[in-house]
Amino acid sequence: MGHGSIIILTMKRRDFSKYSLLLGVGAMTGCKPGSSGMFDTQTATSYTEPSRKLPARDFDVVIAGGGTAGVVSALAAAKQGAKTILIESKGYPGGTIVEGGTALHSFFNIWKAFPGVEKRQVVRGIPQEIIDRLVKVGGTAGHAEMSEGAEFDSVCTNIDTELYKLVTFEMLIESGVNVCVNTLLTGAIMEGNALRGVIAESRSGREAIFARSFVDCTGYGDLAAFAGAQYTEPNDYDVCNSVGMGNVDIARIYDYLKSRDDIYQLCYGTRGGENDKIVRIQGKMVNVPDEFKKSADDIGMTMTTTTMHDNYLMFIKFNMKVPVSPTDRDAVVKTDLELRKRQLMGVGLFKKYIPGFEKAFIARTSPTLTIRRGRCIICDYDITHEDVIEGRHFNDDVFIYGFHDWAPKYMVKDGGTYGIPYRALCVKGIDNLLVSGMMITSDRRSHMSTRNTVSCMGQGQAAGTAAALCAQKECGTRDLEYDLLRGTLEKSGVFFES
Ligand SMILES: Cc1cc2nc3c(=O)[nH]c(=O)nc-3n(C[C@H](O)[C@H](O)[C@H](O)COP(=O)(O)OP(=O)(O)OC[C@H]3O[C@@H](n4cnc5c(N)ncnc54)[C@H](O)[C@@H]3O)c2cc1C
Repeated sequence: MGHGSIIILTMKRRDFSKYSLLLGVGAMTGCKPGSSGMFDTQTATSYTEPSRKLPARDFDVVIAGGGTAGVVSALAAAKQGAKTILIESKGYPGGTIVEGGTALHSFFNIWKAFPGVEKRQVVRGIPQEIIDRLVKVGGTAGHAEMSEGAEFDSVCTNIDTELYKLVTFEMLIESGVNVCVNTLLTGAIMEGNALRGVIAESRSGREAIFARSFVDCTGYGDLAAFAGAQYTEPNDYDVCNSVGMGNVDIARIYDYLKSRDDIYQLCYGTRGGENDKIVRIQGKMVNVPDEFKKSADDIGMTMTTTTMHDNYLMFIKFNMKVPVSPTDRDAVVKTDLELRKRQLMGVGLFKKYIPGFEKAFIARTSPTLTIRRGRCIICDYDITHEDVIEGRHFNDDVFIYGFHDWAPKYMVKDGGTYGIPYRALCVKGIDNLLVSGMMITSDRRSHMSTRNTVSCMGQGQAAGTAAALCAQKECGTRDLEYDLLRGTLEKSGVFFES
């Protein structure tokens, strides 16, 4: 991806010939120092890139980031007939949903915490279509009802993360999306307040991609930042690298926790093809040995786990706070190394103290650090804590949602839902850029609801649909007629309260 030049940037002048030969750019040593495209001879700390003509492609809609929100956003845009491109830096679609999370919270209202309240599936549309496809290949435990810990969530939707990658990849290709994995979005082409295109880099080279509408689903808000949007970097969460543990005996783990009255969450569903098996288990971490508790705390290890397979628990999390925002390259290096050391210690602790883990091993880790938030992009509306817990709806709702990750401390009133207004997805100051996913909502209390996977997916459908309609109508995001957007979303299976 053309990173050779980064090494040139950071080295001292006397090292240049040596490194340039190693990099195979020896011919450059013949260039006159200080000439255009050369390194700065005085300090060797900067490099002026020569201008060059890039190949360009043209689309209706660009979706930046093929993660939790981006996959759904791209599917939604393509569903409206938009010529859509999806740019994803990793080698597969899925994002944090396949790399860090636990279960998909939540397709339903949390009715169990409010006796007498009706069970309602509030998130449908494309997110449910993905679940339906997963069911066919045994890639989900389904919407299994929580039997203990139901005041936190009423259902637990587990996925097989590898099958999720495959199924969403297939759906994207079938729907005609131009899928560019292993492709990093590195810049924005602006014309006044409008985005005209993006710069993307892959092993096929650097290119310009033009479009009429854009959706930033990068989690970090990279495209919005490149486009000059206003943002904050609150750095208010731990970052994480989670582990899947193989060779565990789930029945013995359950027996041990049960015997100590230490089960907080429990859910039964389809595991290894059989029904009524444990698919989620979380200890209270109260009645386990003190040494285990203390050491687990020290290394930021939590014990919420889900599974779809016998002898396997996924997403045992190792968390830590980084002193600076996770957009900082060097901080991320140190943190990822530290978390990986902690993972080894963590497996050791489980083996030593919790029956059922004696032969456990690390079966997978997150490919990169997973974050709960990077940049928070300033949009036309910022969803407040009161909006969420009071269950407020807006005259431009594009999605409704009912789960809060801090339940039972904070829950949507009466087991209801609140609305995500369209304006909460419109990036302030930019004519044709929408966002969806973890980067909306500044208040951490409301973010603890909007950042959840199923919310990101629903936002993705709204933003992708809107982007396609804007491209069709040749209008900016703020000029799109709400009734048209709402009607189109309803026709695509999105559920609204009224
Ligand atoms: C440790 C952890 C545990 C969690 N547990 C749960 C849980 O149990 N239940 C729940 O519902 N939610 C959970 N969440 C929250 C939820 O998973 C995330 O908030 C959500 O998945 C974020 O979705 P997103 O689309 O915003 O970002 P992502 O899913 O992260 O998608 C962003 C995508 O953009 C790509 N990308 C980024 N930058 C670029 C670029 N410049 N060019 C190209 N591609 C780029 C990334 O590779 C990625 O695929 C958890 C989060 C974390 C970190």
